[in-house]
Amino acid sequence: MNQPLWQLKKEMCDVGHRIWLRGYCGGNEGNHSVRIGEDRVLCTPTGISKGFMTPDDLCVVDMEGNQVEANAKGRRRSSEILMHLAIYKARADVKSVVHSHPPHATAFALANMPLPEGIHPEAEVFLGVVPMAEYATPSKPVLGQSIIDVMTPDTNSVLMGNHGVVCFEKTLIDAYYRLEILDQYSRLLLLTRQLGAAPNVLNPSQMTELLEVKQKFGLNDPRLACAPEGCASQPEQPFFAPFDVRPSSAACECHCDGSTDSASNDGAFEQMVQAITDQIMAGV
Ligand SMILES: [Zn+2]
Repeated sequence: MNQPLWQLKKEMCDVGHRIWLRGYCGGNEGNHSVRIGEDRVLCTPTGISKGFMTPDDLCVVDMEGNQVEANAKGRRRSSEILMHLAIYKARADVKSVVHSHPPHATAFALANMPLPEGIHPEAEVFLGVVPMAEYATPSKPVLGQSIIDVMTPDTNSVLMGNHGVVCFEKTLIDAYYRLEILDQYSRLLLLTRQLGAAPNVLNPSQMTELLEVKQKFGLNDPRLACAPEGCASQPEQPFFAPFDVRPSSAACECHCDGSTDSASNDGAFEQMVQAITDQIMAGV
C-alpha cells in the first residue's frame, strides 16, 4: 500500500460520508476496509454512523479478525470484518471491500432477483456479471462463505440475498465507485419498470463490441469468449416477465378475448364480478 496511512484513514472517512450522503446506509449500517499489509486490514468500527467518522475511530485487525492496535476512542472493529477477510483471502488482487445497503440494489437482493445482463454499457463495463449470494446470518463466518461461493476471479460486486451488497476492488475509491454504479444501474432498471416497459436488450453484435471495448480498458470479461452467440446478451428469462405480459388475441392465458378495446374489457370485468357475486350468494 503506497498511500500514507493518515491519507488512507481520511479517505475511509470521506467514503463513509459519501455513503451516508447518498442514503446507502441508515443508522450504523455498513462497513468498509482496506488491506494495508500482508496481515493487516484497516476497517470501520461497529456502532457508529459511517457518515461522521474521524480517523481515530478506525480500527486495525489481523487476517483472523483480531484487533491488533489499541483504538484511541476504545472503538471495536466491525462485526462484518470476517466477510471482508474471507474476500481478501480468496482474492489476493482485492485491496478494499465496501459493504452497504443501497436501497435500489438491495431491493433486487430482497426480491432474490438477479440483475439482467446486456442492458446498460456502464454496468456491463464496470460491473460485469453480478452474482447473487444466498442469505447468511450477518457477522457469522457463513456470511463470508456465501460470497466466496458465488464469486469468480472477475467478480467485483455481489448482491447479498435478503441483506445488501458488497463491492471489492484494488483501491477504496474504485470499490466505492462499483457501489455507486451498482445502485445507479438498479435504479435505472426500476425506473424503466415504472415506465411500463421492459428494457431493450442489446443484440449479440452490440454486446460483443461492448465487451471488446471493456477488454481494451484492461477489464477481463469471460463472456467475450462465447460471443458472438452472446451468452450474456439474451437473458434466459425476460426481465420483469410477469409485469410485461400483455394480452394478445393469439395467446391470452386469462381466457378473455385478448382485446384491448375498453368496452369489451369492461364487459369481461362485469362478467367476472357477476360470477364472483353469484358464488358469494350461493354460499360457496
Ligand atoms: Zn449489512
